[in-house]
Amino acid sequence: MISLRIRRALLLALASVLLCAPQTAAAQAPAAPAAPARTATPDRPSYEVSLRADADGSHWTGRQTVSFRNSARTPLRSVDVRLWGNGADGCGAPEVPSPVRVDRVTGGTPRPLTVDCTALRIDLPAPLPYGARTSISFDVDITVPDRVHRFGKDGAHRYLGNALPLLSVRDAQGRHLDPDVGFGESFYTLSGDFRVVLDHPAALVVPATGTTTRRAGAPGRTVTTSLAHGVRDFAWAAGPFLSKTVTTPGGVRLNAYWTAATSPEGVALALQDGTGLVDAFGKRFGRYPYGELDLVMSDNLDDFGSMEFPGLVLLWTEPDGSAAVHEIAHQWFYGIVGNDQFAAPWLDESFAQYANQSYYGEDTTTCWEDQPMWPSVTAAITRPMSYFADGHRSEYSRVVYGRGSCALHDLERVLGTPAMAAMLRDYVRDHWQGVSTTADFKRAAQAATPQDLTPFWTEHRIL
Ligand SMILES: [Zn+2]
Repeated sequence: MISLRIRRALLLALASVLLCAPQTAAAQAPAAPAAPARTATPDRPSYEVSLRADADGSHWTGRQTVSFRNSARTPLRSVDVRLWGNGADGCGAPEVPSPVRVDRVTGGTPRPLTVDCTALRIDLPAPLPYGARTSISFDVDITVPDRVHRFGKDGAHRYLGNALPLLSVRDAQGRHLDPDVGFGESFYTLSGDFRVVLDHPAALVVPATGTTTRRAGAPGRTVTTSLAHGVRDFAWAAGPFLSKTVTTPGGVRLNAYWTAATSPEGVALALQDGTGLVDAFGKRFGRYPYGELDLVMSDNLDDFGSMEFPGLVLLWTEPDGSAAVHEIAHQWFYGIVGNDQFAAPWLDESFAQYANQSYYGEDTTTCWEDQPMWPSVTAAITRPMSYFADGHRSEYSRVVYGRGSCALHDLERVLGTPAMAAMLRDYVRDHWQGVSTTADFKRAAQAATPQDLTPFWTEHRIL
């Protein structure tokens, strides 16, 4: 995502300069360490969701079924469902319950909610052996909060990002039950398939992740069905959006949706940028696999910013543009190549920012010049969200977006542009719809040069 604060900080950073020239000596290529064994489970999730909206899209109720496989050698005794939509409101209050509620669980036994009502553990009736599949089902009740936010309201428009309950991940590090820290992202999910049926008033236009079809429902209602394969989240919006569809020369359908108050110049710019860059990023990182991409735009998101979801980006749009390039770059770095966004936010944000700057051909040779080079002795590009949330909030944008993208441009100068491009293409291919780690990226970069990158990582605080 990119917030107003981050956008301003980056504009300041771009106005300044200094090259942190890598002090690395040519050496024999060190042997690349073997990839660590890791098994993330439950994997290959398949979501079947059917929701019905109230008259203005503020309240959605229905049923959700998730099937999944145990890909770990040890039997799976329980799964964790994350209710990220409760991140801001927690457990609510008796008169104002949590925005996302789950009830009538079948296929397992629910425990009490934890992590400020963002985590629900469901014990399976019997341990699920390695390779076996099972499913759980539950009622879902979603009330869109009254705030301008990725999960919130914007006049007559509703944004339902992070609203749908998702399976959490268990891997070599254990269960991932990290909190929502109120900025950036804490999300970590595995790619899966979604079939989401949304029954809503016909007056509401409903952009959604995936390939979307619409048919008439009961009198005055429309049923929007979205199919998405190989995505790690599902988002939608609802409201009286204006819309326009273009097809890129590479064959991707680009659907623009915007609120009536949004500047036509900003909408046109986002469509123009989007049309060129979906194909350009496809050539650079691997063809955009989802066929369809929705740009949902509003001029009223200035207190929030912009946010990426698979196949759908929410853009704060002004007459002079939006963060369309950064957010669409996230389709590759976060979406196609996943990461634990709590443990390693740089793996999506620094990469999206690097891709954004490359696309615009910005001069980054001097991107280290603003002083001090690091905001603290402990600052590092690879710090987790827990570090930034624990007294280092002010370092987040400067280090993860600013320093992280600078470091990638420096790496490109070390490897050379063709080798960097080839390395990134291979890196995306090797983690296609999977998950990458900092160690994976360092290994990929090291394999692209005979030069020992150890000093580079140390100097750039990629630890
Ligand atoms: Zn971002």
